[in-house]
Amino acid sequence: MKASRPRFSFIIRLTERLLADHAVTAPPVPVESIAKAMGCRVVFGSLQDVSGILVRSAEGATIGVNERQPPVRRRFTIAHELGHLLLHQGNQITYDHEFRVNLRSVESSEGQDVEEIEANFFAASILMPDAFLEADPRTAFIHLDDDAAVSALARTFKVSQQAMTLRLARLLGRKA
Ligand SMILES: [Zn+2]
Repeated sequence: MKASRPRFSFIIRLTERLLADHAVTAPPVPVESIAKAMGCRVVFGSLQDVSGILVRSAEGATIGVNERQPPVRRRFTIAHELGHLLLHQGNQITYDHEFRVNLRSVESSEGQDVEEIEANFFAASILMPDAFLEADPRTAFIHLDDDAAVSALARTFKVSQQAMTLRLARLLGRKA
């Protein structure tokens, strides 16, 4: 059954449990190793304008990643497709064209498919867990318009600066 609203709390609990199960206690989160440890094949190839693809078969799931994208985007793609695998069990094949990550799409249930919102939220939650961000002293006084500070943090977590900005906005907004 397809959820009608994004299951944000459920996804946070799920990603926290995965990190604990795989003994990940600090960034960068080894998302490719986690996917493989869960029995997933991860393959890289030229996928034209598709960022990632998830194929399920009797032998298991395969995540295909566009090799032409930068490493931080490939990590986000693996996390996004792993989210589809764990959250959306009905779909045999999922193609992801250049999925966009922006604050409104992630936080609002309007204007974007619920499954895409959930997969993006899963990816952000597993790559940038709140606990890891809160444990980093740099986040306490960070300003989102401080490009150097945000990009340094993004490098620690091996995510794009854009993804980090959105995640920090959510974290700081929650505290305000
Ligand atoms: Zn997707």
